Amino acid sequence: MKPGVHALLEVARNHPGRVARYYRERIDAFNDRLNAFITVLDPPPRAEAPKADPGVLAGLPIAHKDIFVTRDVRTTCGSRMLEGFVPPYDATVVERLADAGCVLLGKTNMDEFAMGSSNETSYFGPVRNPWDLERVPGGSSGGSAAAVAAGLVPVATGTDTGGSIRQPAALCGVTGLKPTYGRVSRYGMIAFASSLDQAGILARSAEDAAWVLRAMAGHDGRDSTSADRPVPDYVAQLAEGIRGLRIGILEDCFDTGLDPEVGARIRDALRVMERLGARLCEIRLPHLALSVPAYYVLAPAECSSNLARYDGVRFGHRAEGVQDLATLYRRSRSEGFGTEVKRRILIGTYVLSHGYYDAYYLQAQRVRRLIREDFIQALSTVDLLAGPTTPTPAFRLGEKTEDPLTMYLNDIYTIGVNLAGLPALSIPAGFVRGLPIGLHLIGGDFNEGLMLAAAQAFQGATEWHTLAPPGFEASGP
Ligand code: GLN
Repeated sequence: MKPGVHALLEVARNHPGRVARYYRERIDAFNDRLNAFITVLDPPPRAEAPKADPGVLAGLPIAHKDIFVTRDVRTTCGSRMLEGFVPPYDATVVERLADAGCVLLGKTNMDEFAMGSSNETSYFGPVRNPWDLERVPGGSSGGSAAAVAAGLVPVATGTDTGGSIRQPAALCGVTGLKPTYGRVSRYGMIAFASSLDQAGILARSAEDAAWVLRAMAGHDGRDSTSADRPVPDYVAQLAEGIRGLRIGILEDCFDTGLDPEVGARIRDALRVMERLGARLCEIRLPHLALSVPAYYVLAPAECSSNLARYDGVRFGHRAEGVQDLATLYRRSRSEGFGTEVKRRILIGTYVLSHGYYDAYYLQAQRVRRLIREDFIQALSTVDLLAGPTTPTPAFRLGEKTEDPLTMYLNDIYTIGVNLAGLPALSIPAGFVRGLPIGLHLIGGDFNEGLMLAAAQAFQGATEWHTLAPPGFEASGP
């Protein structure tokens, strides 16, 4: 079993540099098999005099999804467009975790501009799932999920616009937390769909996620959508447990498209929660089925607007040998973006265009409101909602690349949460045909603490989150 954050901090305190070196060596030994990193960094040589305030996470190795800008460290967003982009500043998340003492070991691979569910849209090649190297790790934070699952880093950041933290967490057998919209600053996080994007964490356990969330959450004047409310002590809150919590089972998720074996494992996991003192009931959300269609209007609309900045002039790839401005735009964008990104930009500009705006974009906004109201109504009767994170375990590389619609359905259970802005978590909940699956927990606005406490209680009674993929076992530094 790999040690958790708490134990690693202890080792880092007593043997400065040892923890970072240990994980750095594992990256060297295993990354070739997984392609989880786009950029690998050496830990800085240990400073001579220890800092007066080394920070609560002093010496903890971390990897950031390559969507967070890092000063003087190349940040690609998985795209040819930003292949050579070296940002002049740090994202707030990067800055806060560095201030807390985290040691950055690299930038993780991801679907291009976070658009995808399998990591296969990355310009830097697909990531492989450590549980089966012929299968995808999920996406778009697949590099972070695979790196944590294989023990190349103890924790990593991710972002979740429609499921990109929770889905890869489920497929790689790790814990993935998407906080409430606004809980974590988006400053310096390369935008995909700004009203949905939220930064979060991939970690072994809910406890480890709580340590990192406490350091990265909080108001940021540089992000006007960041929430100005105090950050609770998520680590202390873990002790609150699960007893007495009312958990609503999302019955709609069990109706169609769910692999029956995944369904059976999730029912088993829910029985564990019941045994630990949770009270279960059934919940139906009438508009949840509309999440995927609404998302695939709204997310492309926002992406088409956000990605307009990559014009070959100010950022990123610039076509060569061009004589006029229109050709410069066209060629730079044609060369810099991959197929999925282009598809989204086309859909987005279409749904926002005059004559279609009302029919698609406004309509999708209305549906989004109904979905949020369904969730709020349900969460007025229960503390948490629960169901499967994904309909199936990890699929094979190449299995869904020909059919974007089948790929989009991977996020069918996670997307509604982003439309509603709520916090949610995926925790390892068993295996189907030798592959990990995830239990999805959804909380009320800013109820991360309660959700983490429930997950921690579950992890205290199960060992799914402690298992390592064969060939990637680790004893710890
Ligand atoms: N898979 C979804 C998409 O392709 C979600 C991606 C995400 O959460 N970043 O848009």
